[in-house]
Amino acid sequence: MTDTPITIELPKWYDLHAHFRQDEMIAPLIKGHIAMGCAGILAMPNTKPPVGKIFKSDPGNYTSIEHYSSVLRSDGGDTLKEIIVPLYLTTEMTPALITRGAEMGMLKCAKYYPPHGTTGAELGAPLETYVENGVFAAMEGAGVVLNIHGEEHALPAEQYFDRTTNAEELFYRERLPRIVDQFPNLKIVGEHLTTKIATDFISAAPDHIVATVTPQHLLYTIGHLLQGFKYHLYCLPLIKFEEDREALRAAVTHPGNDKFFAGTDSAPHTTKATECGCAAGCYTGAIAPQLYAQSFELAGVDLSDENEQEIFKNFLCFNGPDFYGLDIPTETFTLQKFPQEIEPLKIGKNTIVPLPLGMQSDTNEPCTIPWRIV
Ligand SMILES: [Zn+2]
Repeated sequence: MTDTPITIELPKWYDLHAHFRQDEMIAPLIKGHIAMGCAGILAMPNTKPPVGKIFKSDPGNYTSIEHYSSVLRSDGGDTLKEIIVPLYLTTEMTPALITRGAEMGMLKCAKYYPPHGTTGAELGAPLETYVENGVFAAMEGAGVVLNIHGEEHALPAEQYFDRTTNAEELFYRERLPRIVDQFPNLKIVGEHLTTKIATDFISAAPDHIVATVTPQHLLYTIGHLLQGFKYHLYCLPLIKFEEDREALRAAVTHPGNDKFFAGTDSAPHTTKATECGCAAGCYTGAIAPQLYAQSFELAGVDLSDENEQEIFKNFLCFNGPDFYGLDIPTETFTLQKFPQEIEPLKIGKNTIVPLPLGMQSDTNEPCTIPWRIV
């Protein structure tokens, strides 16, 4: 007698934080998302130039939400239920433009990048800029969501990442509580949480303050990156310690979790590392639900049990769309506990190495993950 592998039918889900880049990159990346059961995407705005304005006719030498959304649709996204493009907050944004964009239905959310804090964050301005210039007040008034890359910027190296503190902890301890107090109705998503401090803050915050969690931050710790220097795991905020991973796992697998949801932060890099440094971002397109399922099992969730499957569904399929007011799709996809081999993604002459493959000492060796999509 052969055992039937665990099989879970899930509503199609929304990846509420991912990077689709530009030009010839877009179509294969969207294809990967559709292949992993995505009904919709939130496509981050750190393109070149960034998505720093709402309408094509708005001032500034930026890509517009209007234009980038239409490019994503025409490059394969037209079958998705939803494409959300957040506005990249630059110093040129004004409260009037925010209000108009929201009224016209083109602006749902806006992303704060700490200046020089990650890939494509050169045009970000300090958070206080938007407190002072009225942009956060306009967002709060119009119900526009603030997506936050929560790290203090411009720290000396000793505070950026040290044994007793780091940029994310400082941000969630000192900066974000003030924003929450000043703008009590501003909807906030703490993106790609990495620390216990940030996780505890989100858990204790009011209901309209929520967070995304990536597969890599649930699967790995800084030791995995450092042993053999697995630079494919280099992303920002940097992966942290076992205590932090435990807190993240506990938050996403809590039976009452309605605040933490899937946002892969999948970010392809054609050149990941050079002798001058390393691009931040892990590519998990096409395999993210599989990796999330793996991480839930590692956190002690029994995915053969229907009740425990509900906890996984809340995280992957329900909490995110509930927060953004999106429909839960009636279409489904199926995850099965059966090994799947992972291949590099070829785009033209470029090769993108998906994360678990990048954790091997030889990325040319076969690599399998425990779950597949059937
Ligand atoms: Zn990101």
